[in-house]
Amino acid sequence: MSDIINLLPESVANQIAAGEVIQRPASAVKELLENAIDAGATDIKLIVKDAGKSLIQVIDNGSGMSPTDARMSFERHATSKITKASDLFAIQTMGFRGEALASIAAIAHVEVRTKKQDDEIGTQIEIEGSQIKNQTEIVCKTGTIFSIKNLYFNTPARRNFLKSNMAEMRHIQDVFVRIALVNPQLRFAFYDEQRQKFDLRISGWKQRIIELFGKGLNQKLLNVNEITDVVEINGFVGKPETARKTRGEQYFFVNKRYIKHPYLNHAVQSAFEELIPSGAFASYFINFTIDPEKVDVNIHPTKTEVNFQDEKTIYSLLRSAIKMTLGKFAFSPILDFETEMSFNHAPLPPGAEVKQPESHMNPDYNPFSNPTSKPASDNYGSTWQPPKLDERQSSNHENWQQLYKNDEQILSSGINAQQGDDESIERKEDSSEFIFFQIANKYIAMPHNDGLWLINQQHAHERVLFDRYSKIMSSSKPVSQGKMFAEVIQFSANDLDIINELWQEIQQLGFQLNKKDNGDIEVTGAPPEFNDESVQEIFEGMLEHYKNNQLNLQLDKHQNMLLSMAKNLSITGDQKLSDEEISALMEAFMNSDQQDVSPSGNRIMSYLSAEELADRF
Ligand code: ADP
Ligand code: MG
Repeated sequence: MSDIINLLPESVANQIAAGEVIQRPASAVKELLENAIDAGATDIKLIVKDAGKSLIQVIDNGSGMSPTDARMSFERHATSKITKASDLFAIQTMGFRGEALASIAAIAHVEVRTKKQDDEIGTQIEIEGSQIKNQTEIVCKTGTIFSIKNLYFNTPARRNFLKSNMAEMRHIQDVFVRIALVNPQLRFAFYDEQRQKFDLRISGWKQRIIELFGKGLNQKLLNVNEITDVVEINGFVGKPETARKTRGEQYFFVNKRYIKHPYLNHAVQSAFEELIPSGAFASYFINFTIDPEKVDVNIHPTKTEVNFQDEKTIYSLLRSAIKMTLGKFAFSPILDFETEMSFNHAPLPPGAEVKQPESHMNPDYNPFSNPTSKPASDNYGSTWQPPKLDERQSSNHENWQQLYKNDEQILSSGINAQQGDDESIERKEDSSEFIFFQIANKYIAMPHNDGLWLINQQHAHERVLFDRYSKIMSSSKPVSQGKMFAEVIQFSANDLDIINELWQEIQQLGFQLNKKDNGDIEVTGAPPEFNDESVQEIFEGMLEHYKNNQLNLQLDKHQNMLLSMAKNLSITGDQKLSDEEISALMEAFMNSDQQDVSPSGNRIMSYLSAEELADRF
């Protein structure tokens, strides 16, 4: 007898592998969408026919491939994403095994059209059951179009195993949603034959969630945010009332890759304990950003389970982050108001008691007669910035939450804005503390030594911000926080020149910027207080002031930028402030070394003496 062991032909090996990797049409959809993302596409379109059984097409505007790469891409273990084993521990891409296209090509008719940006002409390749049938040059746009036809044409058993079109379509939609959900920075469209199922424009994460799951969620999502050395947890949980009897919208992602994790799911459920009926499921959308080395990445492409190194730590961080979110929400119904300007309740941590209002200030301190001395307490210091009360913030309760987060003093001191008129009269009689009140939405008045100090709120705030930003800029290490979704800003040529001129200064303030090839600026990090804000808006406002100042003031660029930031973000001279806001502003202002004039040279305060008052009568 001769030897009986054969090496399987490559095509048979690929078919076998394909059975594992491409279990159903939805698996092919997942691989193609992930490849498009890995190729840097910003616009991705998916078209399926017959639940993917007769056509799956993905059109992207990503990097495209050279003719050789296009051909190579169908080889097994052909990947541009890793070159050595150690790369496996630092995977930043969705794919890396280099077997998806080889597998798909083994069991379908595949056509690819692709062109790189710098190439004049593109490539078209047709391949059937791993056999290249045709390769030609074609004229096409930059990017790649993969068309998969007749899936499982040569593996009838697999084909017969498929479920109804409706069931397969559901799988495809699940895949699409999991990918589109966590990539709001990309545009996605999804067509079933001619019928458009989704057209998702580039947006923020919350907006993307709402577009996918319905406008009804708009008022119902609570932001979860926890940043530690081990992991960054970002996302949303549904308010307790959105909990369902069926396991519904539960999404975990690790580095934007969808995962299932029963143990961490338990962490969420237990944070909701007692807030939702037993047997109900909380909804959540949560991404864990974690060093790839600390997750087991060498997982099978079709599996959604992962292992974390610090599983227990992540469990408790997640649980407490959600509890905190829910606690704030439960104790602060006012945060839910969409239009309410003033806030009456400070959110209390669960179990905390409501304390009587108390002052943080030293009653004996005369802030104005001796500008170099400091008040006894330094609660607000220069790290707290009084809120900007514009339309945008007042209609967005998340910003209020952000505000509270910034100021634990207000959090713990409770409810001093809740006083009615009676109580404020009472307070005025209490000479042991400063009393501030606002006049004409413009001035803050403070009775003192028989007279009255009048402080221009806008000028004072500009001073506070200016001092604060100068301090940050002169510190050796500005605090910056990575943005979960980089913001891309397009500037006019003129504005871009100024941004370039201020590049260093902007980074010193804590913004992290990248220049893209096309001249756009990508913002990947911001000072924590701006993390939820549109950096574009901040920069646009700043540039406006900067240009004005260039015309009217003799300032160097450093000073001009500080001034422009301060003016841009300052409260205005026509803005109602709550008691908390007034006292926070005043406390920060009292810490300022320069209380006479604002950074643009305007007088900040004025004293009305008892004698001057007497003259009036
Ligand atoms: P992997 O994604 O694991 O590297 P694939 O078989 O999915 O393996 O793809 C093989 C290679 O083909 C990729 O590494 C990439 O270089 C290239 N490729 C695949 N799809 C695209 C695409 N849409 N645009 C550009 N290049 C692509
Ligand atoms: Mg891939």
